[in-house]
Formats: sequence, structure tokens, C-alpha cells
Amino acid sequence: MAHYEILIIGGGPAGYTAALYAARSGRKTAVIEKLSPGGQMATTSVIDNYPGFPEGVDGFELGEKMEQQARKYGAETIYAEVTGADLTAVPKVLHTSEGDLTADAVIIATGAYPRELGLPGESELRGRGIAYCAACDGMGYRGKVVAVNGGGNTAVEDALYLSKLCSKVYLIHRRDSLRASAVYYKALEEAGVKIVWNSRVTALRKEKRLTGIELENVVTGEKSELACDGLFVAVGRVPDTALFTGQVDTDGAGYLVADESCRTSVPGVFAAGDVRTKALRQVITAAADGANAAHWAEDYLLKRV
Ligand SMILES: Cc1cc2nc3c(=O)[nH]c(=O)nc-3n(C[C@H](O)[C@H](O)[C@H](O)COP(=O)(O)OP(=O)(O)OC[C@H]3O[C@@H](n4cnc5c(N)ncnc54)[C@H](O)[C@@H]3O)c2cc1C
Repeated sequence: MAHYEILIIGGGPAGYTAALYAARSGRKTAVIEKLSPGGQMATTSVIDNYPGFPEGVDGFELGEKMEQQARKYGAETIYAEVTGADLTAVPKVLHTSEGDLTADAVIIATGAYPRELGLPGESELRGRGIAYCAACDGMGYRGKVVAVNGGGNTAVEDALYLSKLCSKVYLIHRRDSLRASAVYYKALEEAGVKIVWNSRVTALRKEKRLTGIELENVVTGEKSELACDGLFVAVGRVPDTALFTGQVDTDGAGYLVADESCRTSVPGVFAAGDVRTKALRQVITAAADGANAAHWAEDYLLKRV
């Protein structure tokens, strides 16, 4: 069974930044990735808010470059799926589709993915009218009409963010009050966001891009159409943590509980990137977590008896 000082699960920006720092501190390091380098960002053609790329950068290309940079300093990539873990064993054991591996420290960087509405055409319109992150894609809808679907804090924050860029913002919510904090009501009113209460999106209208949405009033059953250039889906995110629940503390939404040090409830196990409890899930915050996780993993390895 191959042994590593630091094993990192997930090859997104958090995982490869952790690998870069861990390998540069001389630790035998590997990233275990089930698909290809880059994680979520590999699914987007342009990232405009990662510093150092004034023209934007292709997400897939950025992922490949992160892998190359970590490899340059000795970090390996093992293309396999982690299917189980014993994180309290000494050394820690990871079961993968390519066999078992052991490690002195483990960094979990398995990410999170946005919950979809599950409507016909949704995947196909992703990047062409359907978006899941206002901070990522809002700029592409400058001066346009958009709708945000959801009623929690993220949906409201997305609507407020978009109200500064877009000509009109609708907030579609299936209930008659928001789950978001009350303080947001006044902010939404002042920003001119029109809330469409008691409504759900039932269909997407499209030509080459999204042209509008069909709504259903869940109280009266009445159907209506709303013409819009973009629909931001903000109905929650799902952290990829099922493998670790029961071993590592999670919050109510399933994220691994860890502060900026990325230390989890299990000594020697760290959570970096979208998978951990945090406010802003972006490439840059994932990369920052990767650096912090490797730093504290190094601290753990040095102080371990
Ligand atoms: C369409 C889209 C556009 C975006 N645009 C932007 C943007 O413009 N700017 C920005 O800053 N952010 C953007 N984001 C958000 C950004 O991509 C994420 O915040 C970031 O990728 C999180 O990085 P991460 O390393 O924590 O996790 P992820 O990127 O989710 O990577 C996790 C990796 O872990 C792997 N993995 C999971 N489980 C296992 C397992 N059991 N075994 C092995 N491997 C596993 C996955 O295959 C994946 O590669 C966008 C996201 C999406 C979906």
C-alpha cells in the first residue's frame, strides 16, 4: 500500500494549491482526483475575477496550469475516486477505485456543486442564460433583465449584487415571505428588485439562449411568462461530503466545519475550498484555503509525537 505524508482528495483550485504548498515544503504529496484537474472551474470557459489575468482565463486551462505547477515541485496526481476513508486510523487510510493508500495527514478538497432546478434544457442553457453564481457570471448580464430563483440569503444577496449591474432584477420565490434575514427586505426595495411571491419556475423559454421563463403561482395555479436574459438559480449548494459524515463534524447543510486554519474536528484532517463552512465560494478563496490547509498540515506533522 503506497504511503504519503499528505494526501489531498480533489483536484480543484483548493486541492492543487494545497499540493503546491505541501510539495514545496518537501512533503511526499499526492492529489487524488476522480475526473480531471480544475474541478468546477474546468466547466467554465472564462474566469474574469481571478487576479493576474486581465483578459480572463479559461477555467480548464487554469486547472491544467495549477496541476503542472504542483507537479513541478513533486506533487503526484492519482486519477481515482476515493470511495471510503478511515480518518482516525494511524496512518489514515483512503480506499480508492485504484486501491488503498495511507497518509499522515489528509486534506479534503472535494468541493460543492450548485443544486439545479431539474428543468428540461437547463444543462444545455448553462452559460447561455442559466447561471448559478452572481459573483461569477453577473458581469455578463450588465444592462440586461434577469431573474433570481430562491428565497434564502444567497438568493437575496445575488439579487442585490445583480441590481447594481442589470436593468431589472426579479426575485422568484415559492413562498409568501423570505427565508433570508428581515434586514434584506428594505435593501431589496431600495434596490428596485421586484419580488414575485408564491411562484416557481416551471419551464425555460429559449432560442439560441434563454429568452424567458414560465412561472406558476403555487397558490392559484395561474401560469405566466416572464421575458428575461438570465436566470440565476440560487436554491442551494450540495457539498461533496457524504464520504466523511460521521467521521468529521459537519454543519446543518453538510459542509465540513473548519475555520480559516482549515482544521476539522479530526486531528490531521483538513477541509479546504468549497467543501468547508465559509461565506464566499470562489476560485480565489479555494486557493487561499489550499495554502492555509497545507500550512496547518505541515504544523500538524511537525508537532505530532
Ligand atoms: C459554472 C461555474 C462557473 C464558475 N465561475 C467562477 C468564476 O468565474 N470565478 C470564481 O472565482 N469562481 C467560479 N466558480 C466557482 C469555483 O469554480 C469554485 O468555487 C471552486 O472551483 C471551488 O474549488 P474547490 O477546489 O474547493 O472545489 P471543486 O472545484 O469543486 O473541486 C473538487 C474536485 O474534487 C473532485 N472530487 C470530489 N469527490 C471526489 C472523490 N470522492 N474522489 C476523488 N475526487 C473527488 C472533483 O472531481 C473535483 O475535481 C464557478 C463555478 C461553476 C460551477
